[in-house]
Amino acid sequence: MQFNSRYPSLNSKLYHEQMPSPLKGAKAGHFNAALADELQWSEDEKAEWVEICSGQKTFPEFHPLAMVYAGHQFGQWAGQLGDGRGLLIAQILNKNNQTIDLHLKGAGSTPYSRMGDGRAVLRSVIREYLAGHALNALGVPSSNSVGFTTSEQGVQREKLELGAMMLRTSDCHIRLGHFEWINQYQPELLKEFTEKCIEWHYPECLKAENPILAFATKVIQNTAIMIAKWQLVGFAHGVMNTDNLNITGSTLDFGPYGFMERFRPNWINNHSDYNGRYTYQNQPSIAHWNLWNWLNHLIPLATPENKEQFKQDLADSLEHFEPTFLEYYTHGLCQKLGLPSFHKDSFDCGMAFLRILQTEQLDYTDSFLRLQRKEYEAIKDDCLDRRQFEDFLAQYESIRTNQETDELDGEMFKANPVYILRNHMAQTAIELAERGDFSEVDRLFKLLSQPFIKQVDLEKAEDLAPLPSDVPEVMVSCSS
Ligand code: AMP
Ligand code: MG
Repeated sequence: MQFNSRYPSLNSKLYHEQMPSPLKGAKAGHFNAALADELQWSEDEKAEWVEICSGQKTFPEFHPLAMVYAGHQFGQWAGQLGDGRGLLIAQILNKNNQTIDLHLKGAGSTPYSRMGDGRAVLRSVIREYLAGHALNALGVPSSNSVGFTTSEQGVQREKLELGAMMLRTSDCHIRLGHFEWINQYQPELLKEFTEKCIEWHYPECLKAENPILAFATKVIQNTAIMIAKWQLVGFAHGVMNTDNLNITGSTLDFGPYGFMERFRPNWINNHSDYNGRYTYQNQPSIAHWNLWNWLNHLIPLATPENKEQFKQDLADSLEHFEPTFLEYYTHGLCQKLGLPSFHKDSFDCGMAFLRILQTEQLDYTDSFLRLQRKEYEAIKDDCLDRRQFEDFLAQYESIRTNQETDELDGEMFKANPVYILRNHMAQTAIELAERGDFSEVDRLFKLLSQPFIKQVDLEKAEDLAPLPSDVPEVMVSCSS
């Protein structure tokens, strides 16, 4: 590993140094060898992955630390939060010379644990491990994980579960909530902290006339792009609190997430989200709300003479959110449908298709695949309102007339995954893993490595469809 330790150069009020506390009887869960290669792990380091991913081995180059931050949870100010069960154990360079954080989740309690036990359970670790891998392979910016370990130690949740640890990788663990903590508790740190954020994550903004405004705009744009990509693959994060969004716009801290199966825009995967704040369809507006809240925390960086103008400029920077989101979403939706994004009716046609999926409760992923395979009759057969589908198809075919359909079809193959991580797939892998069998985790890991390619030897019929509607859905709780 090539260390590039930079977080510890910040004011020490922003973190607490502490060592991981290993679990009893730690043992291998799963290892992402390709990611370890990308992160330039040596053969010796790879051989020690279980020790590293269980907190038994740390590095002299980096003293593990828990970050402090704050946040708005479900729209309410939650005060001080922080890494209550995870530790930053290294910052290293990947093959592209990009700095990547290694964050060990489940490593024991910290001063920020509040009432929590500092642990993570195998169930939630497997869910985060597979989803991070799936999102990366789908081309959605996201944290990932080098590996996870299980243990013999019981951890109490609704029932007694197995403790586990996961070594998460991310280009950034600085959350919007970091700024909230600083302004609430140590406002004198804001200037230097923001400068470091820009230097580390958006160095190109240093050249701008106003680097802070340029930085704000980039954070807004990257977040909008990330959300557009979530919507396109049908990903619902589940807990879009301000402490779970980072400043680079890569997906982080998804616990009760889900990949959409039957298309329901108001779907809540997180069963603890009683008011439906974080439904799939709310994600763009919640991201906008979080960013608006965050921009307020940059206002103190104005100089006394330009305060009003700076406030206005920050507010204006948020105007980038919607067009950026729409540009990426529209382009992606057209690609999924095999429609030219420059055509004035393509977006409407896409919306008409989504309305069919919604009214007919069709599977989001599978329906795009059927369209790609031109199985129009089969889709129509699944519709109660056949007329609605015929109208869509007439418009769809008329837009595609006289277009380069080979090229458009090629785009569809790149945009429509064959495999997503359905809740019941993760659940089967979890139940086996809890009995010590990680073969299903491994199978899903391989399958989701190449989500756009049909893998007949690896796939199972249940990977391709939602559970029948008379089978109760897997309940995904916030507890993890
Ligand atoms: P989350 O919604 O999972 O991102 O967690 C919100 C906050 O609660 C973060 O500050 C976490 O570190 C903390 N937290 C969650 N679970 C635990 C736990 N079991 N022990 C200690 N802190 C926790
Ligand atoms: Mg969190």
